[in-house]
Order: sequence, then C-alpha cells, then structure tokens
Amino acid sequence: AQAERGMAHRLLDGDRRALAKAITLIESTRTDHRQEADALLDALMPHTGQSLRVGISGVPGVGKSTFIETLGLHLITQGHRVAVLAVDPSSTLSGGSILGDKTRMEKLSVSDAAFIRPTPTSGALGGVAEHTREALLLCEAAGFDVVIVETVGVGQSETAVAGMTDLFLLLQLPNAGDDLQAIKRGVMERADLVVVNKADLDADAATRAMANISDVPVMLASALTGEGIDAVWAAVRTQAERRRADGAFDK
Ligand code: GDP
Repeated sequence: AQAERGMAHRLLDGDRRALAKAITLIESTRTDHRQEADALLDALMPHTGQSLRVGISGVPGVGKSTFIETLGLHLITQGHRVAVLAVDPSSTLSGGSILGDKTRMEKLSVSDAAFIRPTPTSGALGGVAEHTREALLLCEAAGFDVVIVETVGVGQSETAVAGMTDLFLLLQLPNAGDDLQAIKRGVMERADLVVVNKADLDADAATRAMANISDVPVMLASALTGEGIDAVWAAVRTQAERRRADGAFDK
C-alpha cells in the first residue's frame, strides 16, 4: 500500500515514469495487480476529468501521427501538457506493435510536456474500452490537460473511443477512392469533425473531398505544413465546450 501511495504521489506530481508504470499496472492481467490498480484508480479519481479529450482516427497513411505531432507541439507552446494514447489493435495479433515499430512523433516524444503511449487492445473489445479509459484517467491525474486517443479507423475501437472522449475527429485523405470511403462510413457516423488532411498536395481535390462530406463539419488542413491546424483546434475547443455545457460529457 505504501508503494501505491508513492506511485500515486509521483503521478500527481506529473512524473511521467510513474504514469507509465501505473498504466502498465492497469494493463496487467494478474489478480493482485488488478487489486492494486483499482486502489490506485480510486485514490486518483478526484484528480481526473479535467482534460480536453480528443479521439483522432483515420486509415494508416492519412497522417495521424504527423497531425498529432504538429497539433501537440503547437499546444505545448501554448502551455498545455499533451498525452497521446494510441490504441493499437495489431499488438495482440502479431505479438508486436505496428505503431511501436515506426518512429512516430519523434519531436513530440522528446518534449517534457508530452506523454505518448501505445495501448494494447488485449484481444477483447471490452479491453480496449476499459484499459484506454483507465489510462486516460491516469493521464488526467498526472496533469495532462489535453489527452488525445488515437485509433486506426477500423470501426470497432472507434465506438468505444468516441464514447469516452469529448470530441471525435476523423482525418480523411483528399483523394480517397470509393473503397476507402466505404470502409470508413461506419466510422464517419461517429465523427464530430472531419479534417481533410494533406490539403497542401492538391487543393482542388481537397476542396472536392470536402464538398462530398455532409452532416458533419469539415475542414481542410496540412499536418505537414501546419496550415489549418490552429483553426482545427479552435473548432475542437468550441465543439467540446458546447458539449460539456450541454451536459453531454460524462467521465
Ligand atoms: P499515419 O499512418 O496516419 O500515422 O500517417 P503518418 O503521419 O505516418 O503520415 C503518412 C505519410 O504522409 C508520411 O510520409 C507523412 O510525412 C505524410 N503526411 C502526413 N501529413 C501530411 C500532409 O499534411 N501533407 C503531406 N504532403 N504529407 C503528409
């Protein structure tokens, strides 16, 4: 119990190593670990619920990690602390992590004000929801005031993630073909905001893609050049604040 209190203290101080250890603890399947994890979560619960939680999804290659890095660095210069939880459905199938293999968000990961962590899905869908939700609460207790939950847009984890975030943002390619759009339709239904990324590549195609999306607010951006990122963040904040005011937010 003393070790737990030590961990809780360091975590509340914003210690990223304590946060990483705590997340490992909640991911453990051992019964004794689960008990420790529950005690830790109980102790930290009063310190949660203060962050802006954003779900970000999109197919591989759409630019999620580039977008999150650009946005994250931008937010850090404004004084925010940014945590990124990457939900990785590949980790249980392959035994290794696709997200972990690449060097992702290199600049963001070296920042003291950032915390990046892939979260395995444990094979079961309930696992995604529960572990990610708990990891999110731990990030909040550690003082991260923006928590981004990244998913790869396959459809299942998105429902769970949309349910635990203030706002769900979907990244789209300017030139995505019909097949790709069809795969993403289920995910599209959950989106609060669609961002057509890589607008720097082909402005006309990006504008056409934007015109094809109805029912959801849609914006153009380039994660690479940073163009539009400011406006996207402003829209995220406005929407999230409105939802919270409506009482739609529930931790
Ligand atoms: P993820 O798989 O969704 O995380 O995508 P990445 O962030 O790894 O990006 C895939 C590729 O697209 C990389 O080569 C990026 O440099 C590139 N990319 C990402 N965003 C943009 C953008 O806004 N414009 C351009 N031109 N390239 C981009």
